[in-house]
Parts: sequence; C-alpha cells; structure tokens
Amino acid sequence: MGRPDVDVVRKWLVGERGAAGTSVGGRLGSAFFMIQGFTVAGTAWAFPHAWQPLLVFSAATLVVGVAVRALPWDHWPQPTLMGFPLAALALLGVTGYLAPGVMPAYLALYSLSYVYVGLTQPPGFGVLLTPAAMLSYAVASHGGHGGTVVAATSAAVAMVTAELLAVAGLRGRETEAGLGRVIDAARAMARTDTVAEACEVLAGSALGVFSADFALVFLADPTVPYRYISTAAAGLPEDQGPIAVNIAEEQTGVGVAVRGGERLFVRDVAESPLISSRVNESIGARSLLFLPLIGQNGAVGALVIGWSRRLAFLDPIAVSAAEVLSAESGWVLERLGITARLAWEAENDPLTCLPNRRVLNRALGGAKPGDALVVIDLDHFKKVNDEHGHAAGDETLRLMADCLRAVTREGDCAARMGGEEFAVVLSRAAEDGASSVLRRLREAWARREPLTTFSAGVAVCQPGEGSVTTLGRADAALYEAKRAGRDCIRVG
Ligand code: GH3
Ligand code: MG
Ligand code: MG
Repeated sequence: MGRPDVDVVRKWLVGERGAAGTSVGGRLGSAFFMIQGFTVAGTAWAFPHAWQPLLVFSAATLVVGVAVRALPWDHWPQPTLMGFPLAALALLGVTGYLAPGVMPAYLALYSLSYVYVGLTQPPGFGVLLTPAAMLSYAVASHGGHGGTVVAATSAAVAMVTAELLAVAGLRGRETEAGLGRVIDAARAMARTDTVAEACEVLAGSALGVFSADFALVFLADPTVPYRYISTAAAGLPEDQGPIAVNIAEEQTGVGVAVRGGERLFVRDVAESPLISSRVNESIGARSLLFLPLIGQNGAVGALVIGWSRRLAFLDPIAVSAAEVLSAESGWVLERLGITARLAWEAENDPLTCLPNRRVLNRALGGAKPGDALVVIDLDHFKKVNDEHGHAAGDETLRLMADCLRAVTREGDCAARMGGEEFAVVLSRAAEDGASSVLRRLREAWARREPLTTFSAGVAVCQPGEGSVTTLGRADAALYEAKRAGRDCIRVG
C-alpha cells in the first residue's frame, strides 16, 4: 500500500508556518478599514449637519484600506497589525470631534477594532487597546454627547470578546503546532536507517510532541524472553545507564503497553501499583505515559514519556499524537529490525555468530601485502561428534569462535569458512603477528578444556599475489600441519 507523502499531509493540515499569520492579518486589516469606510459613507445622510467630516472619514478609511494591501506584511511581525485599530481609533476620535453627537451611533465601529485585535493578536492585546479606545471615545464625544453607560458597557463586552477570540486563536495555533510536531516526528522516524537511530529520534521527538521532561524507548531483549531494555533516552542524565524490566516478573506500565497493546496514562506515579519504585527511583517522574509501539506482528516495545510535574490529563492533541506515534514508530522499528536481522543473517553464521564465507571473501579481496592469512581446522572433529554427540560438537565450534573473538583485534576478520574450518585475515600482522595471535589462541583454547586440538596454516600476502593464491598457500600449510601429526602450526 502506498504511504502518503508526509510533507503533503503536513502542508494540507498545518499550512506553511511563519509569515502567513501577518499577511492574513494585513488583508483582514484592509477589509476592516473598508467596512468602516462603507458603513459611514452609507449612513452619513442621517447626519446632515456633519456629512462633511463623515465623508472625509469614509474617504480616508477606504484609501487606507486599499493602500495597505500593497504593504509587505509578510516581512513584519504580528504586533505591527496593531497599527490598524490604533489608526482607526485616531480617525474615529478626530471625526467625532469634528462631527459632535454622531459617535454614539458609530459605537459598533469601536467594537470592530476589538474584534480585529482578538482575531490577530495574542491574549492581552484587547485589554491594552482599552486606554486608546477610551481616549478616542472621550475626544469623539466631547461636550457630553457620549452616552457614557452605553459606551462603558460596550467597551467591557468588546474587550471580553477580543480576549475570547484571542484565546481561541491561540488554542488553534497550539493545536496546529502540536500537529506539526507529530508529523515532523513521524517524518524523522521514517527517514532513519537503524533501530538505534530510530529509537534516538523517537525519544527526542517525544519530548517536544508531549511537552514532556523525558522519554525512554524500551525494546525487547532478543536474548532473554519478557525482558525489555531502554534502548534510547532523552531528557535524562547522560550517565544514566539502560533500564531493564522483566514484564513476566514485575508489574510495570511497559508490560501493560506491550501485552495489551494499549496506551496507559498514570496521573500520579506515587499512587500507582504499576510503576515499580525500583525503576522510578532512577527517573523520578510524577506522571507517566506508556505507549505500545505496534508493528504488524504486535508490540515491538514501548515508549515511556514522563513529566516531573503532575499532569492532570492528556489533551486531545496528545492523545492523537500518542496514537500516531504508537503505530508509526512500531511499524518503522519493526521494519528496521527485520532489515537488520536479514542483513546480519546474510553475513554471519548462526551457530558461532562469526562472519561467514561471504565476509571472508570480502576481507580476502581487501587484503594487502604484509597481511597474514591463517586457516584453522579442528583435529579429528568427526570423532568429537561420534563420541560426544553433535551438541558437544556444536559447543566445540562455538568455543573456537569465542576464542577467536577474544584474541583478534578490531580490524581483523575471523570467519567460519564452513564445517570445522575457520580463517582469519590479520591486517598488517605478517608472520610474527600471526604467530603471536595463534599462541594466544592456543592459550585461550587450552583454558577452556576443549574436546579436541586444532591445526593451523599461515601465509603472508606477497606483493602482486592474489588472495586466492595466498589462501591456497595457507591451506597447503594446514595440510602440512595435519601430516605432521596435528595440534601444530605451519607457515606456507
Ligand atoms: P581432521 O583432523 O583431518 O580435520 O579430521 P576431522 O574429523 O576433523 O575432519 P573431517 O572432515 O573428516 O570431519 C569434519 C566433521 O565436522 C564432519 C562433520 O560432520 C563435522 N561438522 C561439520 N559441520 C558441523 C557442525 O556445524 N556441527 C557439528 N557438530 N559438526 C559439524
Ligand atoms: Mg576439515
Ligand atoms: Mg578437521
């Protein structure tokens, strides 16, 4: 199934954030002036003694209304929009002064200024407008034609309206920003390449999405059933080690989320039996949210989000964010986990967990003159199987793998060639280095009381020699060691 492009969804839901608010406010300001101009022009006939100042007012507001459309509002901050109501109040004041007694009839225009402020500014600006509105009205109604009670009541109602509009607008913008953060988080998750990176991104984005103090991503420990380990954390001290919980042995929110595949919000950690005090001692949360990370085959882990303050409830945006992150992250983590497993299986031997022949061939291809090549074969291994059983044989192979891992360095490649044969490419080791690795291997091997011995052949890559030739020399040396009675090393 095709997945929609998150960028397109984001634009559709949230729009391009930034300058849009001010440019919309500029157009609204133009409309606000034009409405005043047309209203006064259409009603001036009712005041024959004052038609001149009223028509001047209309002309001025209409001209300003048209002219401001050309201004670059995109580049100006939101508070510059306050110029509209302040200019309107100044015009109303002067007009009322020049046309005594008309202003009570145009009281609604004052309310319009408040509505404009409520629509374009954050809460508080409606209150700030009040002194300017009172001054304008006092000038406009000089000489006692004011209708003071009506004016005062209208001012109060208009102020409250402006504040309510501003609060509603703020909530809308918060919702918009919240949606934007969820979409950004989903997008960042979808672009990760490894499980570890995806966990880091998820923990980091969860802080912003939920305005939380910390976040932890728990994933199943592949080696121990029912054990979940915090694979990534955000908002916790750097030296905080991973936290492990066993959902079969202790009651935890991680267990509820993983087993039930459901979201669990714990308002007060101190009062919940689901939060192990052992775990919370290291994170110190007041409220916690546990989200299952749901893949196609069930929950792959849990996202734990914590607040150091007590959170009374999850708002609807947080609930939606939780649902989106649960599904999206679970899907991404499951897919990355499968990809990583397949990549590992393609290059490693499942019995010994050593790199396989494919990786060895690559290492041989990259071998340089001076690098040493060691081929190891267990002696009389068939007898180990015959006398002690296949399981003991397998265990002996694993033992050799452990010893090889212990004695080789980071840049070396120790691989299982097949059966009971192993090979090591030792970078810049030459013959001496190979001998010392094999001495350490012999010591490590002997300490583990193995059921058999091993023989080895060594060859050092020569300039101009292909790695297949070097491997042939190492193989020949190994057969020489076998012929010499086994449990020994020969250099080819
Ligand atoms: P030599 O000292 O000459 O190398 O004798 P050997 O018995 O070690 O060599 P041979 O090639 O005769 O036998 C190798 C045995 O290794 C036969 C095969 O069953 C066994 N083998 C190969 N792969 C595995 C494995 O994955 N597990 C177990 N248990 N045995 C394996
Ligand atoms: Mg063999
Ligand atoms: Mg053998």
